[in-house]
Amino acid sequence: MSQRRQIRELPDELISQIAAGEVVERPASVVRELVDNALDAGARQIVLRLLAGGVRLIAVEDDGIGIPMDDLPLALKRHATSKIGNLQELESVATMGFRGEALAAINSVSDMAIASRTAEQAHAMLLDGRTGEMKPIARAIGTTVEVKELFFSTPARRKFLKTDATELAHCVEAVRRHALARPDVGFAIWHEGKLVEQWRAAADSDDAGLDQRLADVLGEDFCERSVLVDYRSSAQSEAGGPLIRVRGRAGIPDAARARGDHQFAYVNGRFVRDKVLAHGARSAYEDVLHGQRQPVYALYVDMDPTRVDVNVHPTKIEVRFRDSREVHQAVRRAIDQALAAPRAALAQPAPQ
Ligand code: ADP
Ligand code: MG
Repeated sequence: MSQRRQIRELPDELISQIAAGEVVERPASVVRELVDNALDAGARQIVLRLLAGGVRLIAVEDDGIGIPMDDLPLALKRHATSKIGNLQELESVATMGFRGEALAAINSVSDMAIASRTAEQAHAMLLDGRTGEMKPIARAIGTTVEVKELFFSTPARRKFLKTDATELAHCVEAVRRHALARPDVGFAIWHEGKLVEQWRAAADSDDAGLDQRLADVLGEDFCERSVLVDYRSSAQSEAGGPLIRVRGRAGIPDAARARGDHQFAYVNGRFVRDKVLAHGARSAYEDVLHGQRQPVYALYVDMDPTRVDVNVHPTKIEVRFRDSREVHQAVRRAIDQALAAPRAALAQPAPQ
């Protein structure tokens, strides 16, 4: 038996590195967190610049509200956030972030710098994540976070990374998930100086804007071979609206694929991988899809935020519903209804 060692509190740096293990698995995890932050800051245009699949550099530039100079050092502290302040706010959180961990975690496993300027400031400040030093620089209102040499201090982690091409593909997929949720925001991704993807902000922020974004991101084919979903549960929320609303598009059975790579589900604007939603969707296709064929869909579930717990997973990709049955049923009915619409409607664009 090994000899018992004294219990000691871990140093802060190591605590952050351990926490980073949960949040930062690969460059795409950094991309997801930084784009979340840009969206929470109200950005309309987000530009990503990557080198070596994001391993050498991930820079995310936004035109959001910026971080006030005095708050800048706090942004890198663990459990420091501007998004919630008490339990009640946690239970009804509407922002993508709220844990106040991402920047601290990323900073502990990379060489990070943040440049930010608010509308009140005449210039931007640049914070060096390693030294904590700040200096004024020129920049428009908004924030740029630069993450260099991911996992340089944790070579064991770095070894798990795949080729640059694979890591890049994961980064693009992370942005794609955001882009499908926010047609009102423009996105551009550059890799090694070349533009890899660009999705322009929709002029129209309603359903037409969403349809355009779906076509831009998933291809015209996706829209041509899918039907509009627009469902409201008959049960009413306490506020008087429908308890659950499901919007988006569901592929016709012929559009099903061998892989489930065109299944996008969102809850209150957040991309999730959820068994209840996936099963609800799948069950709507049970009579028309056979074998291993996977339906395609982009579904947006909106519901009272207090009926869904987003604080169950460090990366927030999993959620827990207060009443899974009601969500399952809503998704199934939403797709059932959409697929049952007259087939003639499939050939024509939906009436405005
Ligand atoms: P969280 O998003 O959970 O609050 P983060 O570690 O991701 O935690 O960010 C910490 C804080 O830094 C945020 O609460 C926010 O105030 C600020 N911040 C981070 N990124 C940006 C950004 N792009 N624009 C404005 N503020 C930001
Ligand atoms: Mg965040």
